[in-house]
Amino acid sequence: MKSDIIVKNGRVVTHYGEFNADLTIRNEKITGLFSPGEKENSKEIIDATGMLIFPGIIDSHVHFNEPGRESWEGFETGTMSAAAGGVTTVIDMPLNSSPCTLNKKELERKIEIGKKNSIIDFGLWGGATPDNILDLTDLNKGGVAGFKSFLCYSGIDEFKKIDDPEFIEILNQINKFKKIYGLHSENDDIVNYLSKKYQRENRVDRRAYLDSRPPITEKEAVSRIIFYIKQLKTSSVIHFLHISLSDTIEIINKAKNLGCNITVETCPHYLSLTDEDFEILGPIAKCSPPLRSKQNVDKLWEYVKNGSIDVISSDHSPCTIKEKEKGQENIWKAWGGISGIQTMLPIIFSEGVIKRKLPIPQLIKMMSYNPAKLFGFYPQKGSLIPGSDADIVIFNPNEKWIIEKDGLFYKNKFSPFIGKVVTGRVEKTLLRGRVIYEKGEIKAHKGIGKYLRSE
Ligand SMILES: [Zn+2]
Repeated sequence: MKSDIIVKNGRVVTHYGEFNADLTIRNEKITGLFSPGEKENSKEIIDATGMLIFPGIIDSHVHFNEPGRESWEGFETGTMSAAAGGVTTVIDMPLNSSPCTLNKKELERKIEIGKKNSIIDFGLWGGATPDNILDLTDLNKGGVAGFKSFLCYSGIDEFKKIDDPEFIEILNQINKFKKIYGLHSENDDIVNYLSKKYQRENRVDRRAYLDSRPPITEKEAVSRIIFYIKQLKTSSVIHFLHISLSDTIEIINKAKNLGCNITVETCPHYLSLTDEDFEILGPIAKCSPPLRSKQNVDKLWEYVKNGSIDVISSDHSPCTIKEKEKGQENIWKAWGGISGIQTMLPIIFSEGVIKRKLPIPQLIKMMSYNPAKLFGFYPQKGSLIPGSDADIVIFNPNEKWIIEKDGLFYKNKFSPFIGKVVTGRVEKTLLRGRVIYEKGEIKAHKGIGKYLRSE
């Protein structure tokens, strides 16, 4: 039977290896991988000479802020930026949309908005706060990909942090669903105490913000959770979100070796920007946990290379330029969050594959295969095997280019990555066999993205 599309002459990279192959697509699905030149029959040919062919990237940590904060981002601009960055599936966080995704009604509302405005497929996180423990079952039935809690102030008053007893109660619930439980892990008491202290001392400098969230806050919070899951013998997976420190990865590795059911995520900014960059860049590089030392960045890469990191995602957390400018003279006033979904793949390729010899299959494992598996979307997503959705990135591994403001599809076109020189660029992105991005242009209209239920 004639395929709809054949992608020819490229080098296919999956989580387990790379090889030259032609790839055929029919009815939105991958139908086969063939030796180069073996198959000629197809309606349309995509020539991928000199290109790498990846399964679509899955970004399991984004904040599109819709409904409620559409001026910050939104599903349309967020998923356009994703497509331009080779991302074909996102999982949107329960905040900073307003209302937050804390019950059935808000989940259904977000599903409808996502379907209406997305150009890629999407899953949704449900929130778990002290206020909605009775709603978790409904969120699970609604197909959420996982649940998220904050161990410290979330930045949004309506999304409350949890304390230890609530963690235990929520965990008991989630254990019944066998879904991922994602945690923002920083010690609330220390962060609170130090933030107030430095503000009382009239410190408004950027270093004051870094000092208010020292390494001990992340290490303590993660260690405490590990203590509980050892005691409670939990069956669900605890997923430590946006871990910033190599020391924390070491703590997590020890627990994994003892059989704890945990996974860990880090982000492009912790792998490519430092505390010194933050002091220069200011508000646009403010995030929590904050950026760390150059030495930590190098050490974190060692852990990426030795397989200790399960997932790399962007934690794309945009806002308006006004929310950032407020903090120009007083860092406490700036919104904390970094825009990075569009540049994640080139940054990790450049810093990892080009600079540090990270094997490309390992990149695909952390950015496509592992998230698909963890969140229950495999093998529909995260794979190039016949029968999988034809979500494909055609990537030029040799192009050297500068990240520029004008090329960004974000609603608010700023990012700490602007000006960075990177090697490797997305040429073309296909969602279920359809070209949605090509050489700087979006080729799809909103409304084609599907909601992915996680069962
Ligand atoms: Zn986040």
